[in-house]
Amino acid sequence: MLFDTFGRIHNYLRISLTDSCNFRCHYCMPDENMACMSRAQLMQADEIIRLAEIFTGLGVQKIRLTGGEPLVRVEFPDILRRLSKLPAELTISTNGALLHRHIELLKDCGVRSLNISIDSLKPEVFHRITARDQFQIVWENIQLALQHGFGIKLNVVVMAGVNDSEIMDFVEITRRQPLHVRFIEFMPFTGNNWQSGSVLTAAEMLERVGSELDVVKLRDEPHATARKFKAVGYEGTFAFITTMSDQFCGECNRLRLTADGRIKNCLFGKEETDLLSALRRGEPVEPLIRESVLRKHAALGGQMSGDHQEVDASKIENRSMIKIGG
Ligand code: SAM
Ligand code: SF4
Repeated sequence: MLFDTFGRIHNYLRISLTDSCNFRCHYCMPDENMACMSRAQLMQADEIIRLAEIFTGLGVQKIRLTGGEPLVRVEFPDILRRLSKLPAELTISTNGALLHRHIELLKDCGVRSLNISIDSLKPEVFHRITARDQFQIVWENIQLALQHGFGIKLNVVVMAGVNDSEIMDFVEITRRQPLHVRFIEFMPFTGNNWQSGSVLTAAEMLERVGSELDVVKLRDEPHATARKFKAVGYEGTFAFITTMSDQFCGECNRLRLTADGRIKNCLFGKEETDLLSALRRGEPVEPLIRESVLRKHAALGGQMSGDHQEVDASKIENRSMIKIGG
């Protein structure tokens, strides 16, 4: 088992399969011409499986594949099949554009829930945010995944003046469909032009929803990052990921493995430990994982205060989100 110095158990690993993507969301991949990792830098399929085995041996019970866009990795089917043999729940975060190609594979591999990002229900705004004219295919793939019985969480990064006028529209899609919308407070990462004025806090969003609908608070799952609600009589739910206004670090059970094989013990931490080089040299990796977990800060990677209005994004040392793996 992996415990940090604050007694938090770490049993959930996010593995980034690639830092490339078929979208260009400006809040995530700030530089359109960003150089992607070379093939030699990326963890190869065998290395991903070996590291995942080591993590499950240390008590990891859930693995999320992410990126970049995990579905653009050519070996995605092979990696998923092999990971599905490990004793861990398997899930993915995706932008949904390529989902139709993998539905049967996902079912075969026991994946039951998907996180799909969709920041606007208006094709032109969607295009502006992602730099891709792909709203329709993403929406159709959400419907396809629903028909196939996947549990679906829709991730919406809310940015003032960009898509905040659509909060009620997103809640509305939960009226007749079992969709779980998660409004994510906009977070600062290297190069993404984050400003505190662009953040809409969960409290502000909830006030907007509550002024139009009867809303009830639902019970949150253990270690959940999202605070869950439901509009009365609606089939689905909505939730807020409150990183910027009310951090939930005390419950954190997450570790991240970047596509180049570095463990990050926090999304906002600057510290990284290179597992891939150790693995390639034939050195033991477990002690490095344990040391990394023991170095974890109490909150927000030790780099931010809990008040987003005090955050100076230029002082945060980190990667861009696309190179971390969200
Ligand atoms: N490509 C996949 C996707 O879009 O879901 C997986 C990777 S993406 C980095 C994972 C999640 O991080 C997405 O839901 C995305 O919206 C979120 N994300 C990226 N940058 C963010 C930011 N600056 N603030 C909040 N969430 C962000
Ligand atoms: Fe790609 Fe996902 Fe980042 Fe958008 S949020 S650029 S889809 S990795």
